[in-house]
Amino acid sequence: PASYRNRKVVVLGLARSGVSVAKVFHSLGADVIVNDQKARELCPEADELAALGISVLCGGHPADLIDGETALLVKNPGIPYSAPPVRQALELGVEVVTEVEVAGMLSPAPIIGITGSNGKTTTTTWIGKLLEAAGMKPIVAGNIGRPLCEAALEAEADNILVAELSSFQLKGTSKFRPRVGLLLNIAETHLDYHGGMEDYVASKAKLFANQTEEDTAVLNADDEECRKLAAALRANQLPFSLYSRLDKGVFIEPPYPVPAAASAADAASSGSGRAAAANGQPDGAELQRSIVYRDENGAETVILPVNELGIPGRHNAANALAAIAGCIAAGAEPHGLAAPLREFRGVEHRLEFVREMGGVSYYNDSKATNPVATTMSVGSLKAPIVLVAGGLDRGSDYMELLPLFRSGKIKALVLLGQTGAKLAHVAELAGLSSVVIVEPEEDAESTLRRAVREAASLAEEGDAVLLSPACASWDMFPSYEVRGRIFKESAHTL
Ligand code: ADP
Repeated sequence: PASYRNRKVVVLGLARSGVSVAKVFHSLGADVIVNDQKARELCPEADELAALGISVLCGGHPADLIDGETALLVKNPGIPYSAPPVRQALELGVEVVTEVEVAGMLSPAPIIGITGSNGKTTTTTWIGKLLEAAGMKPIVAGNIGRPLCEAALEAEADNILVAELSSFQLKGTSKFRPRVGLLLNIAETHLDYHGGMEDYVASKAKLFANQTEEDTAVLNADDEECRKLAAALRANQLPFSLYSRLDKGVFIEPPYPVPAAASAADAASSGSGRAAAANGQPDGAELQRSIVYRDENGAETVILPVNELGIPGRHNAANALAAIAGCIAAGAEPHGLAAPLREFRGVEHRLEFVREMGGVSYYNDSKATNPVATTMSVGSLKAPIVLVAGGLDRGSDYMELLPLFRSGKIKALVLLGQTGAKLAHVAELAGLSSVVIVEPEEDAESTLRRAVREAASLAEEGDAVLLSPACASWDMFPSYEVRGRIFKESAHTL
């Protein structure tokens, strides 16, 4: 990055990552210009940069922003490639990158990069905890919150950067080379931005593009797109699988029966019982399954039984396999991983265990803002469930919830928010009779507290009360985080 001294670097997009990129290049002596189309009043970060002597241009894109002098354009991952300054840069042959590329240039520490359609935050957080327990010095950053650049600046050679990476961030990299790259799964989401599956997969694949035999690629052997990619990689590979023993990698022994549906996402969402029935093989409940690591010489290490993982659900077992493989590739001792795998109780608001009272377990899954996520979470718990759901109405009829409401897993429903009545209608079609609609109280917090009390009174010993709304929170709360915290407080003060 020192080669940018006295050269023109344009930073497009003034989010927290833009600020840290601008500071980095400014400190390297580059001639930095920051630009955002938002009006100056909407760019509070501008003052801090201007005070350092960095030029900040808000309220549109000046026509001469990008010219023959421009050495580099660092764009916010959310800005499309069709935005005028980006198009101009590409036409002039100016290199266009995201902050992740800059972090890669700066970091004295090796990087573990984690991407995938689902499970990134969980796996990234888990890897951070596991490496800490292994006595290493992880710094967790990236898409998960703190800009990767900021973490890269702080890092020293004995740290290890654990980076959650989105496909948007990866698309804007060219020389980025993580010591360990993890690709968890590829589902057909985010296609609107990428304009198609091919571009989406290609963006994810950039994680591995600069890796050599000294680096490791961790891919999901149960995911067809991942398997296709794996065939073309140069890196050393340490795959993971729920459904097959691998010659080398991290897997479940005995493996889960392959679910009827082929994709990993379907597999994660179908309950183990149903999957097993489809195969005529024994259900997971009767079998003790272990997580096993097998090295290139065929030596096997049992890490721990699957049912001792601190968070439930087959999708989380897959996240655990990936996290274990990533940590081993980064140099952690396999034997030391069991204890922190048991202790990790998940990321806040994602099927987060809250408490147990009178034999009833309370879970906060406020991040479940769509029916698919709620279906996955309900499938992950073994106990009969009193489900607290409802929220912002996006105009759907929520009929996607019909199979879930018919599954027999939900014993009662407590509904609130704009979609309360719609969900009650779906429940009626499903023949679910124990349904309570909580009428709005004077404020949203009181309404949710009342819903928690209702749920508690419907639950019996051995049941679970689960907040998994299947809807966004904005009809009542500023964010799913606020909704989740109120739920937790109410459960704690029952
Ligand atoms: P991301 O950071 O990729 O959005 P999270 O770890 O925050 O993923 O998990 C968000 C939700 O995605 C979870 O609550 C769960 O419903 C679902 N999920 C998590 N891991 C997986 C996985 N491996 N496969 C499918 N779905 C998953």
